[in-house]
Amino acid sequence: MKLFRVGAKAVARVFGREGLYVCPICGRGFDMAAAQRGDLTLEHVPARSVGGKAIVLTCRRCNSTAGYTADAALSKREINRRFVEFMVGRRDEFEGHIGLRIGADEVRARVVRYGDGLDTRFEILGGTNNPARVEAAGHYMSCLVERGDATGETFTVSSGSSYDPRLAKVADLKAAFLAAFAALGYRYAFSSALASVRQQIQRPEEVILHDPWTVAVGSEDEFLMVLAAEPECLVVKLRDSGVLLPWLTSPEGFLDEVKARSARDGLIQVTGSPIEWPKGLHLVLDGVDKEGR
Ligand SMILES: [Zn+2]
Repeated sequence: MKLFRVGAKAVARVFGREGLYVCPICGRGFDMAAAQRGDLTLEHVPARSVGGKAIVLTCRRCNSTAGYTADAALSKREINRRFVEFMVGRRDEFEGHIGLRIGADEVRARVVRYGDGLDTRFEILGGTNNPARVEAAGHYMSCLVERGDATGETFTVSSGSSYDPRLAKVADLKAAFLAAFAALGYRYAFSSALASVRQQIQRPEEVILHDPWTVAVGSEDEFLMVLAAEPECLVVKLRDSGVLLPWLTSPEGFLDEVKARSARDGLIQVTGSPIEWPKGLHLVLDGVDKEGR
C-alpha cells in the first residue's frame, strides 16, 4: 500500500491522473480497489532467485509474462553458475541435481564434496531414475574401481538446467529497468528513449533489441547505478550482470548505435557518477519524496 501511495502521487504529478498506480512496464493504470484485488504484484529487483528485494509494483500480467520466460531462464542461469563454481572449487556445496552421462545414458545424481581439494562423490538418485540405467551406471563405476585405473575413461557431468541465455539477459534488462524506475521514476521509464526497452521486457521472446545491453562493470559493489557521460547512458550493475540503459537524452535506437560503434571502434569505456541505489520507490525525477508527499 505504501508503494501504491508513492507511485500514485508520482502518477498525479507526471500524468495528471489521481488515484492510479501505473505499471512501469506496460503503462496500464490501476486504482486502489484493483490493487487490493491483487492486480498489482510486488516485484523483486533483481529476481528473488538471485537475492533481489521487493521494491516496485508491476501488474500481474507483466509479472507473470516475464516470470514464465525471462525470470525462469535467469534462475536456471543462476543454478548453472553455482554448479560451475562448485566444480571449480569456489563453492563447497551444490544443492541441485545434476545429470551424469555415461555412454549414451544419463542418470540424475547429487554431487557431494569430501576430503580436501576437489574430491567429489556422485550419488545416483534412486527414485527419479530409470532402474536399468541406475544399474548400468553402478556397474560401469564398479568396473572402473575394480580395475583400479580409470585413466582415459570419460563421463559427462551437467547441471541438468538448460536455458535460453538471451531470455536470461532480458531478465537482466528488466531488473535494471525496474531499478532505474525505482530510483528515477515515471519521467525516466516513460521517456521516448526507453520505449523499445519497455517493449522488449513486455515481449521477452521476440527480438526487439539486439543484445548490446550487457556490459562489464569494473566495481566490487554488488548493486550500482551510474550515470555516465559520452555517450550519456545509465549503467546498472546487479551482482554478476551489468546492463546499459539509454539516458533521457539518448536518441531512439541508442542501443543499436552503441552496438554499431563498438563493432567499429572496439571496446567502449564510459565513466560516471553513482546514483543512490533504490531501497524502495525513490522516483527522484518525479518530485515526490520517499513517503509519497
Ligand atoms: Zn504491466
